[in-house]
Amino acid sequence: MDGDHHCRECDGTGWVLYSTETKDGGFEEAYRLCPKGHAPRYCMGSSGGHLCPRPATRRCGSGYYCKEHIAAIHEGRDSDDPSELI
Ligand SMILES: [Zn+2]
Ligand SMILES: [Zn+2]
Repeated sequence: MDGDHHCRECDGTGWVLYSTETKDGGFEEAYRLCPKGHAPRYCMGSSGGHLCPRPATRRCGSGYYCKEHIAAIHEGRDSDDPSELI
């Protein structure tokens, strides 16, 4: 019952996913701020020495990452950050 911290819509990230149909019939995924006004979290990943500017839309343990970084983590190669090397 930690409803103060997370809501079902945004899963605590502060961003909610929605899809918009494009003119050519495809779907485009986008994110907007949670209507409850949670502060958005940004991806904790980094690439090229810069913090990732994307909104964090996936959770992995205690970390929050964007879709691309969470995919890299699941592949077992969280590259681009030398300090993470064992
Ligand atoms: Zn929320
Ligand atoms: Zn990222």
